[in-house]
Amino acid sequence: MSDTIFTKIINREIPAEIIYEDELALAFSDINPQAPVHFLVIPKKPIATINDIAEEDRHVVGHLSYVAAKIAAEKGFAEEGFRTVMNCNEFGGQTVYHIHLHVLAGKPLGWPPYTDKLKSALE
Ligand code: 5GP
Repeated sequence: MSDTIFTKIINREIPAEIIYEDELALAFSDINPQAPVHFLVIPKKPIATINDIAEEDRHVVGHLSYVAAKIAAEKGFAEEGFRTVMNCNEFGGQTVYHIHLHVLAGKPLGWPPYTDKLKSALE
């Protein structure tokens, strides 16, 4: 797998607002936030998509949710609530091919994401 922009962020080759780091994961603010709080939790291991998660990666992928909840507690929005999303491939809306957990918070979030308005715009 070739390097993505996220490998460059891990290696500090390009800047990012890093909010958490440990031996397995890194979390940083999304450059184009979709909610008052929007950050990404990524594994340091470059796994392209959810489809590429190997058996030995289960621990690191579960760790991403653990980190999301840990940051939510530390930043004080855990009880209020938040959403985590991991997009996969084109129809999932994935644009960076290094898996990442979006963490969105700070306002009530709409559901479902595929609204009638969006549906009619795509038809
Ligand atoms: P995806 O569409 O793959 O689920 O999400 C990729 C996310 O990465 C997007 O929300 C996008 O705004 C974010 N992103 C893309 N490039 C950069 C970057 O260079 N820095 C940061 N901090 N976020 C980025």
